[in-house]
Amino acid sequence: MTKTGYFTHADCRRHDMGRGHPECPGRLDAIEDRLLASGVGDALDRREAPLAGTADIELAHDRMHVAALRGLADELRDQVEAGGSELIAIDPDTAMNGHSWNAMLRAAGAALAATDAVMAGELENAFCAVRPPGHHATRTRAMGFCFFNSVAVAARYALERHGLKRVAVVDFDVHHGNGTEDILGGDERVLMVGIFQHPFYPYSGDAPQAANMINVPVPAYTRGPAIRDIVAQAWLPRLEEFKPEMIFISAGFDAHRDDDLGQLGMVEADYAWITRQLRDVAKRHAKGRIVSCLEGGYNLDALGRSVEAHVRVLADLA
Ligand SMILES: [Zn+2]
Repeated sequence: MTKTGYFTHADCRRHDMGRGHPECPGRLDAIEDRLLASGVGDALDRREAPLAGTADIELAHDRMHVAALRGLADELRDQVEAGGSELIAIDPDTAMNGHSWNAMLRAAGAALAATDAVMAGELENAFCAVRPPGHHATRTRAMGFCFFNSVAVAARYALERHGLKRVAVVDFDVHHGNGTEDILGGDERVLMVGIFQHPFYPYSGDAPQAANMINVPVPAYTRGPAIRDIVAQAWLPRLEEFKPEMIFISAGFDAHRDDDLGQLGMVEADYAWITRQLRDVAKRHAKGRIVSCLEGGYNLDALGRSVEAHVRVLADLA
C-alpha cells in the first residue's frame, strides 16, 4: 500500500487573483516540480480532488456565506460575458475569478476525500496541494486569500460523518488561523494548536481563547529552535493528553526564513521536525491518520523545499 495520498486538481491552478498576487497558481507548480525532481512524488498515491458538496461545506460555514459566494460566482460569469472585469474583489487582498468557485470546492473536496480515504484505511495520511487556502475563512466571511475553511470543514466532517469523537487541528502558518478558531473554538471535540507571528495579520489570537484553542503568538524574528521548544512545551503534552483520533494540519509554509510575507525564521528541517512529532502522535493515538492541507507559503523555492520536507516525513521517507 502506498500510504501517503496526494490530492490536487487542475481547477486549483485556475483560480487567479490578478497579476503580481503572491497567492498565485505558480505555487502549485513549485510544489509539483520539487516533488518530481526529488523523486518524493513517486512515493505518493496521487488522486484527483472532487468538488465538495455544499451540505458538507455547511458543517463549518453559514448557509448565507456559501450562498453569497455562489452568487458572486454567478455575477462574475455575467460580468465576464458582458465584457467586464474578470475579477470581483472581496477585500483588498482577496478576489474571485471565473474559476475560483470550483477551485474552492476542489480545495475542500480534497480535504474531504482525503479524510474518507484515510478513514477507510486506503491511505495512512495525505497531503492536499490545493488553493485557495482556507484558515482565515470564518463561519460567515471570506478574507485573507481564503473563502472556505477546508480544514475546519474536514474536521467537522470527520466528527459528524465518520463519528470520530476527538480530532486535532494543527496550524503552523505564519498567520493566525482566525477562521478555524472562529469555527471550532468552543467545540470540545476539537483541540487546535497553533503558532503564529504576532502582532501581524489578522491581528487576532492573542486575547484569551476558548479552552480548546492552544494558539501561541510569537514575535517577529523568532527562529526555528525557539519554535520547536514551543511546540514541545505547549503543543505536544496537550496533544498527548487529548489523544486525537485524527490530526488535520493547516500546513502554511510562510513562516520560512526566505518568505517575505512573514518575518519568522523556520527552515525545511524545522518543518520536518514538527511533522515528525505530529506523525508520532498520530501513530500512537490515531492509527497514523493525518490530513494536511496547504495554506500559505509564498517564496516559491522555499515552498517547494518545505512541502517536500513535510511530505517526506508523512511518507516515512525521513
Ligand atoms: Zn499565512
